[in-house]
Amino acid sequence: MKFKEISLKGKYIIDAKIELLTGLHVGTAGNSLDIGGVDNPVIKDAMGKPYIPGSSLKGKLRSLMEFYNNKLVPNQVVYTVEPKNDDKENKERAKSGIRMHLCNDENCEVCNLFGRNHGNHKVIINNNGDTDDLNLEDVIQPTRLIVRDASLDESSITKEMQDNMDFDYTEVKFENNLDRITSAANPRQTERVPAGAKFNCSFVINVYNDDNDTYLKEFLTALKLLEDDYLGGQGSRGYGQVKFKDIVIRFRDDNYYKQGQEDKKMYEYKELSEVKF
Ligand SMILES: [Zn+2]
Repeated sequence: MKFKEISLKGKYIIDAKIELLTGLHVGTAGNSLDIGGVDNPVIKDAMGKPYIPGSSLKGKLRSLMEFYNNKLVPNQVVYTVEPKNDDKENKERAKSGIRMHLCNDENCEVCNLFGRNHGNHKVIINNNGDTDDLNLEDVIQPTRLIVRDASLDESSITKEMQDNMDFDYTEVKFENNLDRITSAANPRQTERVPAGAKFNCSFVINVYNDDNDTYLKEFLTALKLLEDDYLGGQGSRGYGQVKFKDIVIRFRDDNYYKQGQEDKKMYEYKELSEVKF
């Protein structure tokens, strides 16, 4: 096993607001039904307030960067969940596996920023879907990006919004699947956090060796891509359009952690369109 020296040069701390331009639905795992609640509830903290799990936000940013950087090609896609046996034999309709980008290229901007899940992975090596073992031993490093859970900014829910909402923090929307022949509708409720709500989000990017601001730039690109995509479910039907606002980027190194000095404010943007590197 090789060893590669890693030295931590500091941390970028990025704080921002996520403003919802349309209703957001981040669902709960499984299909839990809260008592007196709706069919399809949003995820909430122990106080009953909706929040955006860091894992949802990070997963979305990563998938956008995988597409953007053309990483979904043979030898660079693994099964994080392997297909069930029936599907393995019939690769044409392999429905049960979960695929994502993961690679052992030590210069990969996506894996270096978002991390490599060590363990055994099957890498897809050709367009037939044949797989091989992926060896990550030489490229494993601590993940650079940490995404915190984003909490609801309660002050963003105005009295006026509340008057039009079904619950304290959320609205309920009916979605219809129309029968194409009879036009009969099959309404289903979906709970969402309304447009106009804001969440406080926070990120950490660890800076190693000669990284400088390489991964900070990659990260800001990912945020821009998210604004032209969506967060949560039903995005192709209008849900989950978001905008990042009041972005503040600080840098913390020994001066902060050891000497107790204030961290350095490096950049401040009202919105992402002001970001120019
Ligand atoms: Zn990679």
